[in-house]
Formats: sequence, C-alpha cells, structure tokens
Amino acid sequence: MTEMINWLTKRAELSPNKQAVVLKDGTAYTFSDLKNHAKSVASYLAHLGIKQGDHVALLSKNSYDFLVTIHALNYLEVTSFLINTRLTAQEINYQLEDGEVRYLIYDEDLSDLAEPIAQQAVKTVSMQQCPKSNQTNNIMTDDLNLKSTSHILYTSGTTGNPKGVQLTYQNHWWSATASALNLGLHDHDRWLLSLPMFHVGGLSIVYRSVIYGIPIHLHDTFDVEAVHEDLMKNGVTIVSVVSVMLEQLLDRLGEEHYPEQFRCMLLGGGPAPKGLLQQAKDKHVPVFQTYGMTETASQFCTLDDENALSKIGSAGKPLFPNQLKIIQNEQEQPANEVGEIVVKGPTVTQGYYNRDEATRETIVNGWLKTGDLGYFDEDGFLYVVDRRKDLIISGGENVYPAEIEGVLKMHPKVKDAGVVGQEDDRWGQVPAAFIVFEEAVDFAKLEQFCLEHLAKYKCPKKWTSIDELPRNASKKLLRHQLQKQLKE
Ligand code: ATP
Ligand code: MG
Repeated sequence: MTEMINWLTKRAELSPNKQAVVLKDGTAYTFSDLKNHAKSVASYLAHLGIKQGDHVALLSKNSYDFLVTIHALNYLEVTSFLINTRLTAQEINYQLEDGEVRYLIYDEDLSDLAEPIAQQAVKTVSMQQCPKSNQTNNIMTDDLNLKSTSHILYTSGTTGNPKGVQLTYQNHWWSATASALNLGLHDHDRWLLSLPMFHVGGLSIVYRSVIYGIPIHLHDTFDVEAVHEDLMKNGVTIVSVVSVMLEQLLDRLGEEHYPEQFRCMLLGGGPAPKGLLQQAKDKHVPVFQTYGMTETASQFCTLDDENALSKIGSAGKPLFPNQLKIIQNEQEQPANEVGEIVVKGPTVTQGYYNRDEATRETIVNGWLKTGDLGYFDEDGFLYVVDRRKDLIISGGENVYPAEIEGVLKMHPKVKDAGVVGQEDDRWGQVPAAFIVFEEAVDFAKLEQFCLEHLAKYKCPKKWTSIDELPRNASKKLLRHQLQKQLKE
C-alpha cells in the first residue's frame, strides 16, 4: 500500500474538537481549526501557482502559522524545505540553489533575511499574508502518497557542508509509530515543542501530534522560564530537549519536582555529559536519552524508563523495528568493542538530494553508515562515543573528545569545553582542550581534575582559554574550527 488518507484530515474527522495546539499565551486551536486553516492556506498557495511536485522552502520561527503552512504544503503534495532561521543569507542561498527551490514562504519577522533572497530566481510569499479561513474547503486531495518526499531537510553541517536529506511520509509514519511503541500513548498526553520545527527533532512532533491525536504546547523558542512554567502548571507529559536545555531546566527546577503526570524528558541531538544525566537522576527527572539524526527522521534508539537508571549514559536500544550494527574493518563487533554505527529500518532516508555519490557511499546494501562511533554493552544497550571524524589516536589508544569534554564540564568553574587532537611527535596525536571559564582557574588545577576522572593518556596536553566555542546554527560544536585555530 502506498496511499493513505492525509493524517490531519483523518485526525480532524476522529477528534475534531480536541486541542491540536496550545500557544504560550494560552490560545488554543482544535484539530478541526488546524485542518481548515491548512486547507485555506493551501488553496491560496495553489492560486499563486504552487503545484504538486514543486520545491518550496519555508523560513520561519516556531509559530502557529508555521505549523499551518507545513500542513498546507502537504495538502499541495509539494516537497518542502524547512530552513534554519539562524543561517546567513549566503547559507540559505546555498540550500535553495542546491535544492532547486522555486518558492520561498517566509515569516515577516524575518524579512531582513528573506529580502536578499527575493532578488534571486526564487518567488517569495509572506506567510502572514496567507489567509486562514475557517470555512471547510474540499478542493484539496486528502490522499497522501507514503512514498513521496514530504521534506528535504539539511543536516546541521557539523562535519562539512550540509546535505539535503530526503524524507518521505513513510519515514515520518514509522518514526511516529516506533516512538509510540516505546513510550506508549496516554489519553492525556501533551507534548511540549520548543525545539525548532525546521529540524527533524521538532518536525517529528508535528506528525506525532496528528497521528496520535495529542496537543502540541508550541513555544516560539526555548525560554527556560516559559518552558518550566508550562511543565509545572499545564499538564504537559512529554518534552523534547537537547542537553543545554536540560541543563537550564534542572537549574530552574532547583529543589522542586515536576508534577506526577510529567513522564518523559526526551533528550537527543548530541552527546549528553554524564554529570548532567546524574544530576537529572538525583532530581528524579525522567530523562530518556535518544540517538538519532536527520537521516533517520529523528530518534532511532531510546533508553526506556525501566533501564533509565541502570544504564545511565546509554542511548538504549534501536526502536521497533529498527536495526543497528557496530562495524569495524567490515566486521560486526562483539559487545564492548567500539566501531562505526550503521543503521537500517523504515525511518532511514533513501538518500541525499542530488548527491548520488554521497548516497552510494553512505547507504550500502540498505545499511546507512552514520559516521558515529559507538558500542553495545553485553545487554545490547548502545553507547554513542563520538563522531568518527573527531577520534583522536594517541600512542595507539583511541581517545574520544566528547568523553573529555564531559569531564571538563563537570568542573564547577568551567562553563564550556571543546577538545580536539593535536599533532604530536611522540604520541602521534594528543588531546588539546579549549576552555570557556565561568571563573578563571589555573590549568594545572584542571589537569589535576582530569587525572582524577580519566586515564592519563586522555588528559589534555595543551590548554587554551577562549571566550566562546565555535558552534553552528544548531549550537553543535565545530571541532574542525578549533583544529584550525590550533594550527594557527
Ligand atoms: P552533518 O551531518 O552535516 O555533519 P549533524 O550530523 O550534526 O551534521 P544532525 O542530523 O542534526 O546533523 O545530527 C545528528 C548527529 O548528532 C548524529 O549523527 C550524532 O553525531 C549526534 N547525536 C545525536 N544523538 C546523539 C547521542 N545520543 N549521543 C551522541 N551524539 C548524538
Ligand atoms: Mg550527520
């Protein structure tokens, strides 16, 4: 079967009066509102000439209009590109050209960013000018072809140029199902969305909401005070976060506790420092660590509740029915041996847009090479150690920068830390640390601190104090830039 009814149409038929979205100011829309608004915007866009198969980009911060437009574009059967609003105009142009995009729908708050693009070969449409009428509008197709590409999302560009990952409705469907089979569905579930919807972590919640029939508590951005209040007062049961958000939320929580119905803090996007996980454990915050990427339409593995405490630091097991192997020199590795993580399953992309070679190199016999290193413990739980490109080999020993960064960040005077390999005549490479201080301390003290927590060969041999670490628009550490700084 490749055709299915549009999920929003079906949801509005089943639960028309149920809340679909609650905004920060308390304004709420039902699934019926959401469907009517999406169809109204779709018919307006159709009048402007947007048609099935077009490549349409959306540039917006999180908002109700953004959510409506995502659904509207699905009714039009176009492929949409969700653009990271923190990119520069030049970076956006790269993606629009690379993706052969014909239209750009933009949030008027971002006109400064959108206007230079208007001069290119792309037609622009203001998102706010798309009318949202409440009239039931049946001119659109309610069919959805599972095999068609709903979105092309660019990777974060942490290791090089971002690549356009093609995701189909089928990928999203399985992602939503796999997550529900793990977390379960509760009648009163409410999912707080403060991650940007232009990244797969935020977008996946958009589809879960309509497939499960649960409201999204939609935040335009991550404001720790607003998120804390929503969690404490408004019946939210699940929230998706990255580790910097978790850190701030735990600080804000202090000695308080989240209400009983709050059942899941889904943590993903990058490595989670052990100290942070321990802190969450001490405060009885139900953190579920996940591992996933744009190429797998969000979470691929998740640590379940039952094992959250005994397997701290693990990203759990591949969700149903995903498969994962650890490969080194083309051999599958036994427990506790590190190798490259390769994945297979119905949430995995078919490939990168217009990059046949990269696709052929990355997906071999249906298995996608993630470029990440990890291992399984004896019980089959996955531990992600780092990116393969960032591995440091010192005196023949493998050293993972993320592990050292995690230790450094446990030091109370360290605000942020980045570690890369430096060429060394004796050892081949040695770890070099860049530190953002909360309050200056002697590097000798930090060295001592590292020796208490790490084997000697993992302790940084070179130290640099820095005001801020280079991070990309997704706030991910750009280690290749630190590398460049070292060489200079
Ligand atoms: P690019 O592919 O362009 O370099 P990116 O890989 O950062 O960018 P994303 O798809 O946004 O782009 O991020 C997915 C990556 O995030 C994973 O491949 C992995 O390196 C990292 N990651 C995700 N979850 C975890 C985790 N639990 N532990 C460690 N790393 C993680
Ligand atoms: Mg990647």
